[in-house]
Amino acid sequence: MKLKTLRLGAGRTNCYLVRVETGPAYVIDPADDAPAILAALEELGAKEWLILLTHAHFDHILALNGLGAEAVYAQPLEEAALRDPVLNLSVAAGCAFSSGLPLVPLGEGDAIGPFSVLHTPGHSPGSLCFYCEEEGLLFSGDILFFSGIGRSDLPGGDQARLGASLRRLLALPPGTLVFPGHGPETSIGAERRLE
Ligand SMILES: [Zn+2]
Repeated sequence: MKLKTLRLGAGRTNCYLVRVETGPAYVIDPADDAPAILAALEELGAKEWLILLTHAHFDHILALNGLGAEAVYAQPLEEAALRDPVLNLSVAAGCAFSSGLPLVPLGEGDAIGPFSVLHTPGHSPGSLCFYCEEEGLLFSGDILFFSGIGRSDLPGGDQARLGASLRRLLALPPGTLVFPGHGPETSIGAERRLE
């Protein structure tokens, strides 16, 4: 597995490109700057790719329409935000954005490529994490950060559900490397010590 991290947009959101030996590459959260993402995919030798969303806040999706994709893989509870620039907070940020790309539903217990899908609500209703048990990697979106946790005060957020999602993530093996939606990588073991 090859992994490349791009930090994109005003929020320096992490966009992760994952290339596996066979099958398509994966773009997790096409945050901004489609040309930069396409160039990085080419550098990785990727010929086709699927786009996965941890959630549909604007700072994770601004390049969604520019990657030549036919669909986007996300939890259906995020579809409203995908379509509505008020709900995805892009209007508030002064850069109204929405996407009409068809949504392919992903949810708890699904598997896609090397990942199993965890539904971890609390930051947004349809927040997903992508977990690769074999490689010990977790893409945690805006749920778990290096030395921090996601916000639950945005529309659709829920503090109790965020707490339950965090407890679930922190129960993964301590050696699991965590790649969050913002900021540096960490590990489950390191974040568990902060509990
Ligand atoms: Zn967010």
